[in-house]
Amino acid sequence: MPYVAAIDQGTTSTRCIVFDRQGKIVSLAQKEHQQIYPQPGWVEHNPEEIWHNTQEVIALARIEAQLQAHDIVAVGITNQRETTVVWNRRTGKPYYNALVWQDTRTDALVAQYERDGGQDRFRAATGLPLATYFSGLKLKWILDNVPGVREDAERGLAIFGNMDTYIIWHLTGGHYNGMHITDVTNASRTQLMNLQTLEWDDDLLQAFDIPRAMLPQIRSSSEVYGKVTSEVLPGVPVAGILGDQQAALVGQTCYEPGQAKNTYGTGCFLLMNTGTEIRQSTCGLLTTVAYRFQDQPAHYALEGSVAITGALVQWLRDNLGIIENSADIESLAATVSDNGGAYFVPAFSGLYAPYWKADARGVIAGLTRFVNKGHLARAVLEATAYQTLDVVKAMEQDAGIHLNSLRVDGGMTVNELLMQFQANLVDVPVVRPLITETTALGAAYAAGLAVGFWSGFDDLRQNWAVAKTWEPSMAPEDRNQLIRGWQKAVERSFGWAE
Ligand code: ADP
Repeated sequence: MPYVAAIDQGTTSTRCIVFDRQGKIVSLAQKEHQQIYPQPGWVEHNPEEIWHNTQEVIALARIEAQLQAHDIVAVGITNQRETTVVWNRRTGKPYYNALVWQDTRTDALVAQYERDGGQDRFRAATGLPLATYFSGLKLKWILDNVPGVREDAERGLAIFGNMDTYIIWHLTGGHYNGMHITDVTNASRTQLMNLQTLEWDDDLLQAFDIPRAMLPQIRSSSEVYGKVTSEVLPGVPVAGILGDQQAALVGQTCYEPGQAKNTYGTGCFLLMNTGTEIRQSTCGLLTTVAYRFQDQPAHYALEGSVAITGALVQWLRDNLGIIENSADIESLAATVSDNGGAYFVPAFSGLYAPYWKADARGVIAGLTRFVNKGHLARAVLEATAYQTLDVVKAMEQDAGIHLNSLRVDGGMTVNELLMQFQANLVDVPVVRPLITETTALGAAYAAGLAVGFWSGFDDLRQNWAVAKTWEPSMAPEDRNQLIRGWQKAVERSFGWAE
């Protein structure tokens, strides 16, 4: 039986999942990597650890299903977006740890660029506001702060990539001619690519002072780029690349304009397909490339990105020790019937959509002696739902479309209490599909389409089916009161890191 493999290089872990033609999981291996916090606001990953884990999970996934490399007809890559690595083309050595998308060390650079033209000065070209989030400023930080990198970059020796680029370079030969490529979706998150031309933009490169020689070639999201030379999957075509959120959109089969999904992982990311049209946001969303399949035109999306959702559950577990496992948050939250008046605004990396406040920091508001850890657990879960509500409202305004249901996926969607609260808050049904590993599935779809394993979108749509629907059941006055409390709390987080 032929299969397709997907490598999902995520923020907390790296997975390899092998899928069959029905989109069913044949085998899965996963390995977490270290989160490195050298200073408040700084978040790093060790790229070499991640490459090591990638090889390990591929090997484990193959062993689990007893697969030969030739059983796998293609491999697709999906990845945490924006996370920035610079490494040496000759030795393969990174010059510095990867700067993770959540890292806020570029906040002074953001302020500096904003002074000359405002937060939206690059929006027309890139669809993005100035923020610590995107790769361009992270790359500039490495070029300006790590000795020797700029000189090596100008000589074509130091090369840049997001995690897709870094892993494909290693898979296809590394310092023996590894491919230095990315796809349009990942490139659209660097703030260095022009959304219209889908190429690196000289004006942007000049504004950020980035040498062109260090940038990967931008390719479509689905085509045979080359073959794996690494012994973990020898000879298998690398045929798909999608940033993780775009991959989830593809995995959820949202191919029509107006279709949307929300992924609940480390952060939350709501993307709506807007077709081949570039729609600029006026409500604090991003415009981004959704996908480009081989010779077809690019499809675009509006995106509402929320930095901290599942990561807040991890924080409660790792930094406060209130719970032992992420899943324990649900039983703790269920010990009380509401939030007891407490709200948690997890602005750990500032606030992303729709606020874009780099200087916001986390607050817990509404505390009284009545509040216990059950209420806090609830406030933690509710924070995910409120942040999603803010994005849904912005999306409806920008797109002029009323969402009549919310398609969801990601690690947090196993949480029933959260999903029911989400339905209550947005007041539409929340729908979880049978296959919730939509990110990996999307990458597999991109790779499988390129080699003819699937024939087209209709083929993929047949794999999508509902597993569970949560219907809204909250009185409007209760909902409005909760939302007012949230809005007050959000305002208290603004301006903290000024
Ligand atoms: P990513 O792809 O961003 O690494 P995942 O989709 O794997 O994220 O989801 C992991 C996140 O979901 C973690 O932040 C974790 O804290 C959170 N999570 C996992 N299980 C639960 C649960 N039962 N309730 C709430 N959050 C959970």
